[in-house]
Amino acid sequence: MAFAAAKARADFPVFNRRVKGKPLVYLDSAATSQKPWSVIKALTAYYERQNANIHRGVHTLAEEGERAIEESRAKAARFVNAPKPENMVFVRNTTEAVNLVAHGWARKHLKAGDEVLVTELEHHSNLVPWQLLARDKGVRLRQIPVDDQGRIDLEAARKAVTPKTRLVAFTAMSNALGTLSPVKELVDLAHRSGALALVDGAQWVPHLKTDVQAWGCDFLAFSGHKMLAPAGVGFLYGKAELLESMDPFLGGGGMIQEVWFDRSTWNTVPHRFEAGTPSLGDYAAFGAAVDYLEACGLDALRAHEEALTGKLLGVLGAEAGVTVYGPLDPKLRGGVVSFNIEGVHPHDVGQIFDSEGVAIRVGHHCCQPLMRRLQTGGTARASVYLYNTEEDVEVFARALKKVKGFFKVGVKS
Ligand code: PLP
Repeated sequence: MAFAAAKARADFPVFNRRVKGKPLVYLDSAATSQKPWSVIKALTAYYERQNANIHRGVHTLAEEGERAIEESRAKAARFVNAPKPENMVFVRNTTEAVNLVAHGWARKHLKAGDEVLVTELEHHSNLVPWQLLARDKGVRLRQIPVDDQGRIDLEAARKAVTPKTRLVAFTAMSNALGTLSPVKELVDLAHRSGALALVDGAQWVPHLKTDVQAWGCDFLAFSGHKMLAPAGVGFLYGKAELLESMDPFLGGGGMIQEVWFDRSTWNTVPHRFEAGTPSLGDYAAFGAAVDYLEACGLDALRAHEEALTGKLLGVLGAEAGVTVYGPLDPKLRGGVVSFNIEGVHPHDVGQIFDSEGVAIRVGHHCCQPLMRRLQTGGTARASVYLYNTEEDVEVFARALKKVKGFFKVGVKS
């Protein structure tokens, strides 16, 4: 395997611990990633050496702190190939980024009867904000269906777009199934009908090369905590003219230019959308996560994850009584594999895996409409990242057999 996962693992202190007396096998990075020393050190270094509030300070600590944070913004821009750091708005996470578009852009520019189009794959974060908009503004929320493998059907997408569609908001990679969306095609489809395109990059950005200019998307939302950075920092990328056209979402310090008793004028973009004291250390440490991922190389990372995903699919496919969701070709998906074991509740699967030191996620993965489409209440989900190894998949396979043995799956009584 070209990517040295076992070596990378040594950079992540969490792997020094044991779980239930066993070495930790972490297969839950789609929920949140582990953090390397470099990120943890950048976070503590901020509080050890620079802690000061930004924007209003002229003293050394404030200036250094602000520089660290603005470096993170610049690295985020480089990481997704945004034209300028000013295209990147600091937010807490993907959820906040989508809500910022819903409040700042959609509430200002959409009217009753306009349509917002999402897909059947969406995480609740890219669904509920549009439901709230529909409720308050009379905007119609519609959806692009997926096929039985959870793939977006482009023909169905073409049919779903109407002259009233103003926004197509979709995930680049499904967190529940790992399926990869035809991002460029969907962005082009939106643009051909005069709509904007918002890409939910929560799962894509940490794992696959992202180029907002090549995609041509209008907005991209992503979270730092899924890409080695601390929780509490994420970004909304927006095209400059769109960000300029948007109203602030939160009012307060930092987002204004001038304030009178009864009115205010807004700061320049992106600061207009960054009210109040942020998660200073998290923002500053984000840059170290980008440095780490760039040093790994996203192409090598993708090849590594594809190989591990193929192995996971192979293990699951070889077991009777196991249902795997999504396409079986690892090229069509990221490093996320959802499955169910006949007659066993996903929570029981998760608990037995935990008893072997294996962390997986179980439940509806914040995708209840998709779960209904797949006719299941929930699934067990394993997801890989740069620190996972072939040995992890072997432990996974043993845990799977343990569940089947415990529940006597496939044994006729
Ligand atoms: N979108 C997708 C596809 C996700 O996987 C997630 C989180 O799992 C989110 C949005 C929400 O991310 P956050 O909780 O960081 O806001």
